[in-house]
Amino acid sequence: MAAIRYPLTYCFPFPVSPGQRVLVPLANRKATGIVLGPASKPAPGIEVREALYALDTEPVLSAELVRLGLWIADYYLAPPGEVFRAMLPLRKETRQARQVRLTEQGRRALQELSASLLEENKGSVDAALLAYLDRHPGVSVETLQKRFAAAYPRAFEQKWLSVEEVQKERSRREVLAVRLAGPLPDRPHRLSPVARRIIETLARQGPVEDHRALLEAAGAQLANLRTLGRAGLIELTEGRARESQPGRPSEGTEGAFPNGEVRLPPQLTPAQSAVLDALSRLERGFSSVLLHGVTGSGKTEIYLRFMARCVERGRSALMLVPEIALTPAMQALFVSRFGEQVALLHSGLTERERDDAWWRVRRGQATVVLGTRSAVFAPLANVGAVIVDEEHDSSYKQDQAPRYHGRDVAVVRAQFAGAVALLGSATPSLESYSNARAGKYQLLKLEERIGGRKLAAVAVVDMRQEFRETHTQIPFSRELKAEIEAQIRDQAQTMLLLNHRGYSWFLLCRSCGQTQRCVNCSVALTYHRREHRLTCHYCGYATVVPSVCPACGSEYLHYVGEGTEKIEQKLAELFPGAGVARLDRDVARRRGEFLRVLSDFRRGKIDILVGTQLIAKGHDFPGVTLVGVVSADIGLGLPDFRAAERSFQLITQVAGRAGRGNAPGRVVVQTFFPDHYAIRLAAEQNYEGFFSKEMGFRRMMHYPPVTTLANVVAQHVKLARAAEVAKEVGEFFTGVEGQFAGIKILGPGPAPLARVERRYRIQFLLKSNSRASLHALLKRLVHHSAQSGIQPRELMIDVDPVNIM
Ligand SMILES: [Zn+2]
Ligand SMILES: [Zn+2]
Repeated sequence: MAAIRYPLTYCFPFPVSPGQRVLVPLANRKATGIVLGPASKPAPGIEVREALYALDTEPVLSAELVRLGLWIADYYLAPPGEVFRAMLPLRKETRQARQVRLTEQGRRALQELSASLLEENKGSVDAALLAYLDRHPGVSVETLQKRFAAAYPRAFEQKWLSVEEVQKERSRREVLAVRLAGPLPDRPHRLSPVARRIIETLARQGPVEDHRALLEAAGAQLANLRTLGRAGLIELTEGRARESQPGRPSEGTEGAFPNGEVRLPPQLTPAQSAVLDALSRLERGFSSVLLHGVTGSGKTEIYLRFMARCVERGRSALMLVPEIALTPAMQALFVSRFGEQVALLHSGLTERERDDAWWRVRRGQATVVLGTRSAVFAPLANVGAVIVDEEHDSSYKQDQAPRYHGRDVAVVRAQFAGAVALLGSATPSLESYSNARAGKYQLLKLEERIGGRKLAAVAVVDMRQEFRETHTQIPFSRELKAEIEAQIRDQAQTMLLLNHRGYSWFLLCRSCGQTQRCVNCSVALTYHRREHRLTCHYCGYATVVPSVCPACGSEYLHYVGEGTEKIEQKLAELFPGAGVARLDRDVARRRGEFLRVLSDFRRGKIDILVGTQLIAKGHDFPGVTLVGVVSADIGLGLPDFRAAERSFQLITQVAGRAGRGNAPGRVVVQTFFPDHYAIRLAAEQNYEGFFSKEMGFRRMMHYPPVTTLANVVAQHVKLARAAEVAKEVGEFFTGVEGQFAGIKILGPGPAPLARVERRYRIQFLLKSNSRASLHALLKRLVHHSAQSGIQPRELMIDVDPVNIM
């Protein structure tokens, strides 16, 4: 599905229905398309091409999901092809391949070279390339380039080879039955370790009907099986797919319930029962509900019961969470309640696992889906509940096209399905809370923690005062240090939040003031000690740490700012007897280590856990009685109107990790701005207070949810082209100014991140009192840019942006 701006019309020499995938001709290639529905008669003189064939026997998208896709394309001004591609996580059925063959000239050159009397001609790389191509006609360009990097360009220039684009159909998924071909080889030590594992597994378990089970058990690849098959040690025949397993809950979930205990659903508190009753009293059909429940008030149990009721009534249920791969406990909980009915859909799955899970849902074998953002498109039929947990979380907003917001799409999906949309959070987004205030969402509350537990007591430490009194710039105040010491003495657990990964924020030259910056983005590089590298957190660029300043040659390079890696090191120095570990994106990349840390912390093997916002998200560690916020100020200074809201949410959420067990919790918040309302009100855990204060600011500054916002960015690797696009867009806005009243356009100006991943970015911010007129203006802009030759990727349009950097 291509990023074309408008749907295309084809005629079908075979029967099709909406939601079905078809292969169609598009310019001079073939492309996958989704049938949307009957089109109006094309204008005379317009040639309508014939579709080639249907890719599936039944529609992959229901009418409801086709409607949802079209809604997204319209609302977010996204090319429909991109939207449907995002909705279908299926593997492509065809792929483009470029094959290389010898030309007549090439053949002649090969003859001449091999007949040459000069050894250097005979043995040249050119001769080798031509001979290889003669033996392997139709080899891919990539392979040839890799093998003959030096000779390829020359061969191409000499017209020795021709390149042809072909459409390759992917092999259908095959399932193989595997059995041993005969008695075990008498000298098994001659086999490679992986081959030995395969043979031993087969010998132990007997023949298998589905080779994937064998691959898993033996830790092998399909290629290993083929090799053994060719060697005559095993036999491969067509097999039968085993009934697929529910997602992949086994890995890492063992830490979720210590001692392998089976958890029975807990008794509901009166407050929980009241909420559940209110949910069951909702009339059949669409309604949307915001559940505002303080941290530790038992929202998850309500979600589970509500979903179970839904399933009992013969409907299906969907729940979105921000980071499923990071919360194995949640996965385990779902599997223990719903067993085989659950499908997990998230980005941590392999392509094949996702494909399997998707089809289990499509075929109705799984009726409960737990997943991240894109699971909002799960092909469930007859959805009765769409739940969005931690609805305030910014990871629900997709930061590439189509730039949809998973939470808002969830509400629309519920509306199309006649289902209940249930949004839950301890710190609702201003958008959702205003909707609830305005009566668009029903508001339900859980104001008490389960078991009458108190919210943690919060102490704010003024770091300016601390510096005046101690004259040291140490990351821990005396109060926080004393609290941690007491924890270690009492063998209680501590969690420390610092929302900046790496060792130090950047490397500064004291002589000339230069910082080491990314070559692709306009940001400073972060120092990572473990890899001893400078890394860009936007594009992943990494480089060596210079020993002298590249600009002036000075040796006085200074590491500025503290990251989680440094805090971890400092803790180990300060508290030598304590077990210290760290959780952030760098650790999360090493999946095994990440799960081990989570599980060790839950089991009490770690005393102090330091981490970024990852540790604030939904975890339930009953042993934690102290939470420290090392610096509450990171993020407050960003030029983004949501900075205060994000800080408030993060501090409140991480404070909510303390005291979830039987002992009460304490929180120490360190800040240079103790009077900032976001910090003060988070310390009081006063959501209502924060909401009123922040809404006042948004009203004054005309920001959402008071107004509607769109971010329009002209972007290109060449600054000149970005400027050209920005100029075109600016002129368009000026030209239509009178026609769209009530829209304020700021810009053009460089975006706060003026360059990301090599692309220069020039920004317009559009604020409007009327969503309808902003939408009409943007639609005109899309149309205009299509006519002015602006490519979709050259102009980013972000409706309801979460991030305007
Ligand atoms: Zn310098
Ligand atoms: Zn970068």
